[in-house]
Amino acid sequence: MTFTQLAREGVKDLAVYEPGRPIEEVARDLGFEDAEQIHKLASNENPLGPSPAAVKAITRFARQMHRYPDGGAFYLRHAIAKKLQVDATQLLPGCGSNELIELLGHAFLGPGAGIVMADRAFVVYRLVAESFGAPVVSVPMKQFTHDLDAMLQAIRPDTRIVFISNPNNPTGTMVGMAAIDAFMARVPEHVIVCFDEAYIELLDPAIQPDVLKYVREGRKVVLLRTFSKTYGLAGLRIGYAIAPEECIGLMNRVRQPFNVSAIAMEAAVAALDDDEFVVRTRKVVKDGLHQLQIGFTTCGLDYVPSLANFILVNVGQGRKVFENMLREGVIVRPMDAYGLPEYIRITVGTTEENQKCLEALSFALSLSGQKG
Ligand SMILES: *Cc1c(COP(=O)(O)O)cnc(C)c1O
Repeated sequence: MTFTQLAREGVKDLAVYEPGRPIEEVARDLGFEDAEQIHKLASNENPLGPSPAAVKAITRFARQMHRYPDGGAFYLRHAIAKKLQVDATQLLPGCGSNELIELLGHAFLGPGAGIVMADRAFVVYRLVAESFGAPVVSVPMKQFTHDLDAMLQAIRPDTRIVFISNPNNPTGTMVGMAAIDAFMARVPEHVIVCFDEAYIELLDPAIQPDVLKYVREGRKVVLLRTFSKTYGLAGLRIGYAIAPEECIGLMNRVRQPFNVSAIAMEAAVAALDDDEFVVRTRKVVKDGLHQLQIGFTTCGLDYVPSLANFILVNVGQGRKVFENMLREGVIVRPMDAYGLPEYIRITVGTTEENQKCLEALSFALSLSGQKG
């Protein structure tokens, strides 16, 4: 008997998530002497680094690392509750929002209990569903945007969760409140709607959709948020779910006792108050998107207008351009795993990084004999 024969059915057929290539790995593989020569614009990380308030908290708290974390996350839950005007019982922190997607799988998915998602939405929903043997209904997007009418039509008796990533990764598009309200008015009673709001804090508050109201109304809604993007804490692994208490109680039963580290919780509490950093992040992203779009237009490339800190651009042969840009020391993301082989996704960097990226892109295009 081999390990493979002993594995649960379907495990050997699961796809492995392809993350953005780490800087050190690229440096090793391509013979760069100095990791500083490499610019990673591949994982929607914050170009300003981590929230300085979070870094201070981490340093201050390092001496407490012999202690287990507070498994109930009291301070973090209360800090978030105060900030968002929800009840602390409606919150569950996780080891990144990725873990919370998995907890939803543990609690709600399986053979005969599946999901509906958009075909170009965050791929982790599919990977998690498949790991639980849950059926995945994939609904085509309309102009790179969630088509909520079509998703409503796609709901089946065995659907348990509808995932809506808003704004969506990798397209950077958003569905507005009118479309969401219309969807919520018609969604059947047996379905949980999960809004993944990983990029929500990057939006001007005036245009942030308010789906929290559905949690307050006790609807079957789960919101996912993260400290990885706007707060610059991707390496710490911390996010949270907001949902009615009954749902949080179920997710709580399927998590590990200490799923979030003590340092991560301290840093998150500090980051929550770092409004100045959030404002600066919004500005660097807005300016960077503008800079990249001008560069794409100059190269004659089509792009998908984005509200988040990354942008999809049509380069013809995405994987080839990605590889050629790597040699120039710029890491971006090929999009073939999303069924978009002509595209790459570029994370907004600092002004200098964006400039480097545009130069590498232009060079890569000339190598692959395409426009540019
Ligand atoms: C980056 C991202 C996440 C966040 O993942 P973490 O596990 O919190 O780092 C979640 N959803 C989407 C759509 C994302 O792009």
